[in-house]
Amino acid sequence: MARLSRPVEDLKNRYDVVIVGSGYGGGVAASHLARAGKSVAVLERGREVLTGGFPAKFPDLKNDFQVQGKAFKTGPDTALFDIRIGEDMHVLVGRGLGGGSLVNAGVTLRPDFRVFEDEVWPGQIRQDGGLDQGYARAEEWLRPASDPRATEMTKYGVLADAGRRLKREIVAPRVAVSFSDNVNPAGIAQAACTRCGDCCAGCNVGAKNTVALTYLPDAARHGAQMFTELTVRHVAKAPDGSWRVHVEPTGGKGDAFVIEAAIVVLAAGTLGSTEILLRSRERGLALSDRLGQRFSANGDIIAFGYGAKTTVNSVGVGHPPRIPDLEIGASVTGQLEFRDPERLDHELTIQEGAVPSAVAPSLPVMFLPNGRLLGALQSLVSGVYKGPFASLQTYFAVSHDSASGVFHLDGDRIALSWAGARDEPCYHRLDEALRAVVETAGGDYVKNPLAGTVMGHQPATAHPLGGCAMGREAADGVVNHKSEVFDASPGRGAGAVHDGLYVIDGSIIPRSLGVNPLFTITALSERALAHMLADRRLIAKVRPLPARPVPATTPAGVAAE
Ligand SMILES: Cc1cc2nc3c(=O)[nH]c(=O)nc-3n(C[C@H](O)[C@H](O)[C@H](O)COP(=O)(O)OP(=O)(O)OC[C@H]3O[C@@H](n4cnc5c(N)ncnc54)[C@H](O)[C@@H]3O)c2cc1C
Ligand code: SF4
Repeated sequence: MARLSRPVEDLKNRYDVVIVGSGYGGGVAASHLARAGKSVAVLERGREVLTGGFPAKFPDLKNDFQVQGKAFKTGPDTALFDIRIGEDMHVLVGRGLGGGSLVNAGVTLRPDFRVFEDEVWPGQIRQDGGLDQGYARAEEWLRPASDPRATEMTKYGVLADAGRRLKREIVAPRVAVSFSDNVNPAGIAQAACTRCGDCCAGCNVGAKNTVALTYLPDAARHGAQMFTELTVRHVAKAPDGSWRVHVEPTGGKGDAFVIEAAIVVLAAGTLGSTEILLRSRERGLALSDRLGQRFSANGDIIAFGYGAKTTVNSVGVGHPPRIPDLEIGASVTGQLEFRDPERLDHELTIQEGAVPSAVAPSLPVMFLPNGRLLGALQSLVSGVYKGPFASLQTYFAVSHDSASGVFHLDGDRIALSWAGARDEPCYHRLDEALRAVVETAGGDYVKNPLAGTVMGHQPATAHPLGGCAMGREAADGVVNHKSEVFDASPGRGAGAVHDGLYVIDGSIIPRSLGVNPLFTITALSERALAHMLADRRLIAKVRPLPARPVPATTPAGVAAE
């Protein structure tokens, strides 16, 4: 597929719409607003990575990690993985044109209906049917499916076995992955998943239904312009009511500048959108006091089992495969659900996962602090696909927390405070359930193989939610149910909003979902866009698809345009 992003020289001073960030929220907004005939610019701080260009070797992957703490920063500013080391909790997010979809496992689940019965949501979310329509539209684009051959994957079998012993039935969750060759709704030809297990380092086959292969090419086909390696600092209202977007080249490699727009959609994710609004408030924009609150980690953890008595195959082989004929499966192919009809907050889901092939050489090092030197050395000799790491169990688990984290600015950067985070009851329940699962296969539960590093013992999440949480009015939320940002200027009504300023991404979700969030983020984004188009009387005009499908992969050696 040709490059979507343009050189910065093409950037104009003014657009109808500026969209900040290009994950699920940004992709949905760009596609709808471009279809509605608006001039749209998408500004993304990360870089564009084409199918075939995701890190396949350890040195490349290592260079695609940026780790930032209070007083340090390592790795490039355009790395695909952005890890924030916090005093109470660490957060991992994806970075690049396509946002978290580039490096996530693509698990596409709808939460239990009780999640939306929580009064923390504005009533319209439950009442107007827009959320159901949002899920339906999200489904058309992301086309989630269970792997039809899930039961043949070894890691699925190991979890199924654990399920039988624990009296839980395994299910194959839907993932945003194409399991057969197809042409997607954006006219892109996607190849079938090779079950290489590398989803979380980026799909080099073009089988994962990412934002970069769906909503964004659709937006580009309808005229949206995309620019990478541009970081938005803050936004401000101009005297004529339009918005001034303050931008700098990522990494400070150039002069800052301003772009104007009638509509600004902040879609920079939980960390990005909250940080932009915190900075904007500091510079005088009247925003709700709730800004920064209701951060949830979605009760999400990654854990391992080491020393199982059986082969698991939870290390990806990549594409082209390092070990011919070894199929790992998509990152997630099976899950056990621990339901509780009485207590929603006690529910949890355990998914068998795969670590990407490029991580393989680091596995022995990761597990060294736990005193497993011998096994690790053995693995180095025989390769992780044969030695003790062939029986490594990798699990992703999701549950419910109290959404009590709070973001603030530390200097100019966003920081998270959540003093009681590690004592949240969900982590104890997760430990218990994961330990039971791991031990059924004869392994030892390894909660955090990186505890000896800067990671320490704090919990970590890849599902950050909240910060710009929705509410009924400025007193209890940052945006309304339509994603419009509340205007907290003195004398304005409680429900007054800033005309033309929206937040559309995971930051608007006011609580844990108990399942992986991408489907709900996309559904809420679709819902917000349906309201925006109706409120502004905008009508989508869909252009015909190109006569010939565009291949998702860029042929080797051919520079993308
Ligand atoms: C390894 C991993 C695995 C995951 N697996 C799953 C899964 O299986 N299922 C699931 O549902 N969820 C999963 N998630 C979480 C999911 O990917 C995120 O919840 C989702 O991507 C969030 O979508 P979003 O639209 O809120 O923002 P993002 O997808 O985070 O997109 C925000 C974009 O904005 C950009 N940005 C940020 N700040 C700025 C700025 N100042 N200026 C310009 N651009 C900016 C970022 O670089 C990013 O590209 C996973 C996440 C990770 C990291
Ligand atoms: S398993 Fe491999 S081919 Fe399939 S979606 Fe994941 S990365 Fe792509």
